[in-house]
Amino acid sequence: MAKSTVTIPLPSQHLGTTRVVTTHRYGAQGARPKAYVQAGLHADEIPGMLTAHHLIARLDQADSDGAVRGEIIIVPVANPIGLDQYMAGRLHGRSSLEQGQNFNRGFADLIEAVAPAIEDKLGADAAGNVAIIRQALLEALGERRSANDVQELRRTLLGMAIDADMVLDLHCDLESLMHMYVSDDLWPDGSDLAAQLGCRAVMLAGDSGGDPFDEACSMPWWKLRLRFGDRFPIPASCLSATIELRGKADVDDETAASDADNIFRFLQRRGVIAGTAGPIPPARCEATPLSAVDRMVAPVPGIIAFKRAIGDSVQAGEVVAEIVDPTAEDPLTARVPLVSRTTGVLWSRSQMKMAAAGETVAAVAGSIPLSERSWSLLVD
Ligand SMILES: [Zn+2]
Repeated sequence: MAKSTVTIPLPSQHLGTTRVVTTHRYGAQGARPKAYVQAGLHADEIPGMLTAHHLIARLDQADSDGAVRGEIIIVPVANPIGLDQYMAGRLHGRSSLEQGQNFNRGFADLIEAVAPAIEDKLGADAAGNVAIIRQALLEALGERRSANDVQELRRTLLGMAIDADMVLDLHCDLESLMHMYVSDDLWPDGSDLAAQLGCRAVMLAGDSGGDPFDEACSMPWWKLRLRFGDRFPIPASCLSATIELRGKADVDDETAASDADNIFRFLQRRGVIAGTAGPIPPARCEATPLSAVDRMVAPVPGIIAFKRAIGDSVQAGEVVAEIVDPTAEDPLTARVPLVSRTTGVLWSRSQMKMAAAGETVAAVAGSIPLSERSWSLLVD
């Protein structure tokens, strides 16, 4: 079946404006496995959009070769609302300026709607249960009403992904190594994806607390298993991951083509596309708990003078950066050290070199959960 490009209109939020979500679709609707890949949900994160561009070129070739076995949906620019948020010459694409909420939070938790609808339909056949749950998720999402264009964007994106076997949500960090977030439930199943991408950190969490897109796709399976798993088999049926394609400035054709090639091989290995994916590359890291990440926060405002580089192994107690106040009367007292509380790899740094008080400056992926955590594991 030939590839199609479909544009989905979003409701007009203001008179005289229209926006669309453009999708590239391959394979027959309903064919399995189904893969969904989106980029730019945080609209100021560009690496995934260029990766999607390269991936689309590869998939077009596979499509004309008749090699698409399952169904594939690619959304290269997932957030046209955020992409329109220029202020004073700069793009602000992480949060809705109108609604005030991070675009990658608040995706629908459909469990309470789905559970009563499926309870009498589930049985001993795991594959049958998967089909029943997918249908119920789509129906529950279809019944929700959106109050504004951001909610409708979330509903539109989730509606294409929630019944998929694989969901890759392409993001990037500030200054960062390749890394990904995935739920505990999906590990080690997702280890081939992490190895193929060359991830240098993999963060595992259960319910991280903010209803991001990847968890809206994967958590229903975990939550429904908690509720019904003692009576009916409910396998984890959506390998959903947030993939962080390094840092914001890491946008170039060579890198994007390589990342697209790795995603293509992953899709081949998982049977979405015919052909040989080749051997899985050796893993470049162990998966570690998201609760073991030490995010170092500037206690005072000032210039960030980093002492360690991205990718460095850091020991607990080591100084990663100093916050410098050049207005201090005595330069000898002008520096506040930021010390890592854990041992691990320094995988993320602020790309701005000026910190506000309370701002996250760097993150180290440790292996031992840290005791003091806020309610959410995610940074807004
Ligand atoms: Zn993001």
